Amino acid sequence: MTELNNKVAIVTGGSRGIGAAISMELAKNGVKIVINYNSKKEVADKMVADIKEIGGEAYAVQADVSNSKDAENLVKEAVNQFGRVDILVNNAGITRDRTFKKLSEEDWRKVIDVNLNSVYNTTSVALPHLLESDAGRIINISSIIGQAGGFGQTNYAAAKAGLIGYTKSLALELAKSGVTVNAICPGFIGTEMVAAMPENVLEGIVSKVPQRRLGTPEEVASGVVFLCKDGAYITGQQLNINGGLYM
Ligand code: NAP
Repeated sequence: MTELNNKVAIVTGGSRGIGAAISMELAKNGVKIVINYNSKKEVADKMVADIKEIGGEAYAVQADVSNSKDAENLVKEAVNQFGRVDILVNNAGITRDRTFKKLSEEDWRKVIDVNLNSVYNTTSVALPHLLESDAGRIINISSIIGQAGGFGQTNYAAAKAGLIGYTKSLALELAKSGVTVNAICPGFIGTEMVAAMPENVLEGIVSKVPQRRLGTPEEVASGVVFLCKDGAYITGQQLNINGGLYM
């Protein structure tokens, strides 16, 4: 088992939803957290306060991770603040759902930029620091949509499937170094992203989930903690946290 106390994690999009739960669960295990956010400073500041309240250490950094300069600054700020980076959780993501016929080039590019190109931006700058760690971890939050496809989600599915291929290839390249690279593929999780779906669509989805409910952000966060703590010999994998919706 890897001791997580005093390790340092960057969680992109760590201020809300799944990212907030990941930040909190890692903090409960003694990890110092760099909470990245894009637009909602007050939400990120509240998250920092919540972590400090349980005796943890956290620091918020604004960065649009689809912008390479912002991503570089995010990693620099993490190192300035905490001196190292052991864990990178690429969680930031957006949806702009439209059927392909109605999908604009802008909506295609934006979703690919935020969900996929961002991962190049953060990982390329964080990697030298992760290689110095005795237990480097890269965890990419992909999606069931990257595995099974989703109606009105060609842009999102392409980005999330891209993350899976990227995960496997980087895992191969880094295997000897001890840095593990894995993807987590959540099913439908109760966050604002899912709340944005029309109620009847959501009801239809839940009725198809074998466990008949949405997952919780904490259930995804448990997967991240597991990979960080007990995942030294797990690399290049997809961890499906989806109530049995895709097997
Ligand atoms: P969410 O509640 O909408 O939160 C998104 C987070 O990402 C926020 O912290 C947001 O920061 C941040 N963010 C958005 N664009 C960003 C950018 N360009 N740069 C930096 N941060 C940015 O989303 P969620 O539901 O928790 O989803 C988190 C991840 O899980 C995403 O990658 C999503 O695709 C994936 N996922 C979600 C589900 C689900 O059912 N919810 C299922 C499968 C996979 P601000 O608030 O400051 O903008």
